[in-house]
Amino acid sequence: MDILYKSTRGGEKSVSASQAVLKGLASDGGLFVPEKMPRLDVSFEELSKMSYRELAYEVMKLFLTDYTEDELKGCIDNAYDSKFDNEEIVPITSADGSYYLELFHGPTIAFKDMALSILPHLMTVAAKKNELKEKIVILTATSGDTGKAALAGFADVPGTAIIVFYPKHGVSPVQEKQMVTQKGGNTHVIGIEGNFDDAQNGVKAMFNNKELAALMKKNGYVFSSANSINIGRLVPQVCYYVYAYARLLGEGKLNKGQKINCVVPTGNFGNILAAYYAKLIGTPIDRLVCASNTNKVLYDFFKTGTYDKNREFTVTSSPSMDILISSNLERLIFSLTGENADVNASLMSKLAASGAYTVSDEMMKKADSFEAFYATEEETADTIKNLYEKTGYVIDTHTAVAAKAAGDFKKSAGDDAVTVIASTASPYKFARSVLTAIDESNGAMSDFELIDKLKEVSGCEIPPAIEEIRTAPIRHNTVCETADMQKEVEKYLKLG
Ligand SMILES: *Cc1c(COP(=O)(O)O)cnc(C)c1O
Repeated sequence: MDILYKSTRGGEKSVSASQAVLKGLASDGGLFVPEKMPRLDVSFEELSKMSYRELAYEVMKLFLTDYTEDELKGCIDNAYDSKFDNEEIVPITSADGSYYLELFHGPTIAFKDMALSILPHLMTVAAKKNELKEKIVILTATSGDTGKAALAGFADVPGTAIIVFYPKHGVSPVQEKQMVTQKGGNTHVIGIEGNFDDAQNGVKAMFNNKELAALMKKNGYVFSSANSINIGRLVPQVCYYVYAYARLLGEGKLNKGQKINCVVPTGNFGNILAAYYAKLIGTPIDRLVCASNTNKVLYDFFKTGTYDKNREFTVTSSPSMDILISSNLERLIFSLTGENADVNASLMSKLAASGAYTVSDEMMKKADSFEAFYATEEETADTIKNLYEKTGYVIDTHTAVAAKAAGDFKKSAGDDAVTVIASTASPYKFARSVLTAIDESNGAMSDFELIDKLKEVSGCEIPPAIEEIRTAPIRHNTVCETADMQKEVEKYLKLG
């Protein structure tokens, strides 16, 4: 069955999977969704015997139907290889009555690697299929994590180049070092004298600049985006929820057909939406627990039916979830409208105009697989400490938000179903917050002293990603004013 992709706002004719991967966002501003949700066509008994790569193929082939078997398997083999520091790719650890699905064993030790290590390959195959002549230039603004994961994914991928802008004074020392030491002849990293919003606005202006687009084309280039709304990022994320179920079944932790709950630390709503898609294609998942930090716009939405971003933005110890506009939520909203593009488009224009919208009770009823909880900063730190003291297992701040939500949900529902918690970052990535949660006096140490301390505390090896940046030479040292971002791009690509 061929699956086509339509826009959630109804203003564009349907496109193939590979075209949706190339375009990222639909031209009417909507997000691409499959016209029909596929279903798994192999049993969980069979899936439970497969490696991660084999299983990923069984899931992705359902969504990316215009990719041939060879193309898709080639993409998967290029993505999930020795870049991951664990042979299983996504190992599962059991601690304190829950299963932690460790999504952080990739090159940048956060879950974004699961999608960004395959997206470049899905894109280059899509470019070939659609006879795109130009070289793809990925343009990204980052507040730290996405930029590094995208750089690692696109480095030295033929037919692509990647340019990343970051706020020179707005990322952590480890994040900056990770980016400016990035290898690859096709990578370019630029610090700007401005904040993340300035970087984001500068990038958007370039995407929308028709003259620049023409100049790019004349020089054999075209811009593309590695944004989390691309289905080429969403589909690879569905695989690990299916894998988690298959693995637990294979190990006898589940009976055939027994349902699990998934708890996901949420920001842009991409990861939890992937869990929802895993459910829709036939994985026995009951509840999807959306876990927020104090920027709890999603918690409030699920409780009240009103999405309202007009509130104070707080900087937390789980920065990758510090988000007030969860762009992937639009895909769920569209589905709750009964796939009514007009209703969805009108809600989204309310969001753009006033920062808020309210959905009907009938729509909220359709969202009954979702549960929502949130954790304060103090609760997040306590969760890390308590789990460590009870079990010796050390989790990062984002995962701790989910662990707190998992506990609250179990209590409120009296539910003792098997729980899978998406563990989205290595504690090494947020060593300072993690170690001060365990013992406040650790706060006096330098960033690299903390790394050694964490090894002592957790008993886990220091990931290669961290080991590397201690000694890696700096390869990128361009810094520019916000107003000069386009000039830097023109200079790097030698546009003339
Ligand atoms: C991006 C990120 C999240 C949030 O995931 P979404 O798909 O944006 O909801 C959670 N944890 C970590 C570590 C992340 O990097």
